[in-house]
Amino acid sequence: MTIAFPGLLLDVPVTAVRNLGILAHVDAGKTTVTERILFLTGEVHKRGEVHDGTTVTDFDSQERDRGITIFAAAVSCGWRGHRLNLIDTPGHVDFADEVERSLRVLDGAVAVFDAVAGVEPQSESVWRQADRYGVPRLAFVNKLDRAGADLDAAVASIRERLGVVPLVVQLPIGAEDGFTGVVDLVRMRALVWPDGSERCVEGPVPPELAEEARRRRRRLEEAVSELHPLALEEFCAGAALRDATLVRALRDLTLAGEGVVVLCGAAYRNRGIEPLLDAVTAYLPSPLDVPPVRGTYDGAQRVRAADPAEPFAGLVFKVTTGGRGRLTSVRVYSGSLRKGDVVLDAGTGRAERVGRVLRVQADRQEEVEQAVAGDIVAVIGLKAARTGTTLCAPGAPLVLEPPSAAEPVVSVA
Ligand code: GDP
Repeated sequence: MTIAFPGLLLDVPVTAVRNLGILAHVDAGKTTVTERILFLTGEVHKRGEVHDGTTVTDFDSQERDRGITIFAAAVSCGWRGHRLNLIDTPGHVDFADEVERSLRVLDGAVAVFDAVAGVEPQSESVWRQADRYGVPRLAFVNKLDRAGADLDAAVASIRERLGVVPLVVQLPIGAEDGFTGVVDLVRMRALVWPDGSERCVEGPVPPELAEEARRRRRRLEEAVSELHPLALEEFCAGAALRDATLVRALRDLTLAGEGVVVLCGAAYRNRGIEPLLDAVTAYLPSPLDVPPVRGTYDGAQRVRAADPAEPFAGLVFKVTTGGRGRLTSVRVYSGSLRKGDVVLDAGTGRAERVGRVLRVQADRQEEVEQAVAGDIVAVIGLKAARTGTTLCAPGAPLVLEPPSAAEPVVSVA
């Protein structure tokens, strides 16, 4: 049976595109979070489970065997008028190169933490890598249903180990086995997942949590005010637009990397995924919000904005071989990419013709007319393009530079 969500993946403006990665320590729940996102967005009709090896993103058999996500996969899904291009990133340190390759094409990420373990060494190293690439992030503290789960302790470890100001936007309702929902501190509403339900139900804040929620909301406003003088001014000016001010300030701070919005849930029980997706669309950047990419050609610097009117430039970030032949995953940075276009492979200097342009979804691939600046698609027909190579319009050649890749990785004791 197909669940139809008509129009979700139809053309959306580039402002509604989120090129998103899920970053995590092995076992924190990255695969489960990804799977729940795909399920919720309607692209997976039969829910895959990690333990029986049927998840969609863990499609490689070696990966299934080892139970860790080795190869990045990009999947498109829709959420409330937005298109999310989910770029999977390996959580294992042995695959740092792959993480870096994924980080190059992301505009934003969700870092998943375990509510019992807090920030673990590998989540710390992935976090540092994301810092190097200036990737704005949200934090999702997962497994709140586990015995010993402690959101406040996990938040403290985010502050101490990652050196970033946590901006906690939710208060859990219940703990461990009794974790049933969250109070959204931005809208001051309760979101509850009734037993066995995959969708949340919204309602007023439970009276017994009202005081605690008010206290935490005040703490959130104070943290935001310290970092964002304009928000402080607006908070002082009056209450009418307080929530809107808070959302705008949280977004500004996320984009500037000055704070990290923290959400929580239990992905395994489907809890917390809808507000996480709402936060992705509210706080993480569209391709237009990130700096234009830079490239060089013949020693000259070139800049390409996320504008369909500019000459085409894209980056190959993954090549896979499957039933349909060679599938080349491309992040389009400028211009557009259409079936039949001739593109120049800046790595080999060879021109190649684009066979077909596909949007890869969880369980299928759809042919699209064209992909425009900001989008991520897969291309069939390219025979030579390798991972990491720049593809460009033959009349406007360039080699894209990795953003600030020359900086050393910061290691923290
Ligand atoms: P990954 O290695 O980060 O991709 O983590 P997985 O998604 O494979 O999850 C690791 C293990 O944690 C699996 O056994 C999951 O079933 C389990 N898990 C994931 N999310 C939750 C959760 O919210 N609660 C609990 N109790 N277990 C979870």
